[in-house]
Amino acid sequence: MIEDKNPKKTSIGELGEFGLIDYLTKNIKISHSSTIKGIGDDAAVLDFKNKKAVVSTDLLVEGVHFDLAYMPIKHLGYKAVMVNLSDVYAMNAEATHITVSIAISNRFPLEAVEELYKGIRLACEKYNIDLIGGDTTSSTKGMLISVTAFGEANQEDIVYRNGANAGDLLVVTGDIGGAYLGLQVLEREKQVFQVNPNMQPDLDMYSYIIERQLKPEARQDIPGLLKALDIKPTSMIDVSDGLSSEILHICKQSKVGCNLFEEKIPLDPQVISTCEEFKVDSTTMALSGGEDYELLFTIKQDDYPKIKANPNFTIIGHMTQESEGVHLITRANQKVEMVAKGWNPLKKEEE
Ligand code: ADP
Ligand code: MG
Repeated sequence: MIEDKNPKKTSIGELGEFGLIDYLTKNIKISHSSTIKGIGDDAAVLDFKNKKAVVSTDLLVEGVHFDLAYMPIKHLGYKAVMVNLSDVYAMNAEATHITVSIAISNRFPLEAVEELYKGIRLACEKYNIDLIGGDTTSSTKGMLISVTAFGEANQEDIVYRNGANAGDLLVVTGDIGGAYLGLQVLEREKQVFQVNPNMQPDLDMYSYIIERQLKPEARQDIPGLLKALDIKPTSMIDVSDGLSSEILHICKQSKVGCNLFEEKIPLDPQVISTCEEFKVDSTTMALSGGEDYELLFTIKQDDYPKIKANPNFTIIGHMTQESEGVHLITRANQKVEMVAKGWNPLKKEEE
């Protein structure tokens, strides 16, 4: 990303709220036949015919969920969309529409909001999403951005968090822990930059994990891939908060236990090398990190042959009876209780 050192700054006040909305939403294209009415009326109108509608929403707050010191604002727009699409894919549904609501302080010029929308529109183009509305308002301090995503699915295809059974296999897509480590690198560089603003960091060796943090891609491909493999997961969730809390969500809602095998957790080589450099444990990063936006799901054991050689999927554990609890089986073959943020190394199971 090339930073413009002297960007043009147009005050939003000059445009007014309606001028701004027009400016941001002109030339928005609609591609789904389910969109009866998009931007421009009091409400959008959708028609999913014989399909079910899936709806998910997220609110991102500056200083809590993002830091514009290292997050280019275009990436923020892109990521805000991804976070929501990921939730729709986690229902095994196709994401089709979004609404976007923003609150901005007078600190932001028109050009910044335009960049935000470039990221939003790029995400919509790439993932075939209709932008059908939103709201625009001012804030006294900082920026807030809320995206609501809509999707469609056949009723029989929808996968909830509560369908896992003892004996099911636990599967994750892609690799885990990269986004959180990317954040650690960016926060370190931000501090270096504050001390010496002329320093140009060389981040090549962290390119993958920084991209995982700044430009995550939701797993749009997975619902279709599962369908092609003739697999319907028994439960599914997206990995936004780290593997351990997602596993605990599935276990709690499905009333099952789980054994997760440490050696099976898929890690990118950059995650492993950066963990060594930062002197942190890669398993802890995968369990407690977050923002990977991969999908975590359970399948019946009978479906194992359909998935076993597929590079998109890694089997990382299996579900057990609820009374057996939720555990990490370490590389040293120790059974350790899992807790919401990682695991509790002090509380080891008596073998
Ligand atoms: P209302 O007064 O009914 O809330 P607005 O003037 O806020 O209407 O919005 C006019 C139209 O522009 C609506 O269709 C609304 O959904 C859309 N819109 C407003 N803000 C945004 C935004 N930030 N992004 C996309 N669409 C927006
Ligand atoms: Mg409005």
